[in-house]
Amino acid sequence: MNIIIVGGPGAGKGSLAKLIAKDFKLVHVSSGDIFREMALQKTELGDYIGDRINQGMLLPDDLVDWIMMKHINKAHPKNGFILDGFPRTRTQSESLVQSMHIDMVISVKATAETVVTRLCGRYMCEKCGVIHNKIWHDISKCRECGSPLYQREDDKEEAILKRIADYNKQFAPILKFFHGLKKCQMLEIQSDLSDNPENIYKKFLEQYGKAH
Ligand SMILES: [Zn+2]
Repeated sequence: MNIIIVGGPGAGKGSLAKLIAKDFKLVHVSSGDIFREMALQKTELGDYIGDRINQGMLLPDDLVDWIMMKHINKAHPKNGFILDGFPRTRTQSESLVQSMHIDMVISVKATAETVVTRLCGRYMCEKCGVIHNKIWHDISKCRECGSPLYQREDDKEEAILKRIADYNKQFAPILKFFHGLKKCQMLEIQSDLSDNPENIYKKFLEQYGKAH
């Protein structure tokens, strides 16, 4: 099964993607993880990617397609995959479906209030990048590796509201595109403030169960 997961900032998409990947034995292909890792490599391409990410800019479609298809082809066809963070544009969506069949698009939604409350509590490990939330976790140190945690600039409130608006503008045409494809199922999961990653996963299973 090949899945795309989309969700606004703080909707809980990344955690849900990991849980689905584990249970359904899919390869989790996260563009954020891939680009972050590349940015750490001391190469010309790595520096370029790092600069664009730090400035909050998108990478060019053809570069994203090239990098992501390498990872998708590695995952496929032995296992299905769950794509997280890709595609991000209509152009990327079109080129993806030319070479891969997509069975399902999962859209994780949360209200602005939920997102602001969640993201303002978000802290990342400066070493391994694992995300913690003060609603659920001890934020004195990383639960995986014990390193110190920090809050990203774009996890502060005005930045978050802008990210939500940007997300809606960016993803509406993508969802519309996949909605128009034959044999591609659309699932919508509502993520509420009281939901932790396990609850969101349960909601996914309910929706998935109804559809299969
Ligand atoms: Zn860590």
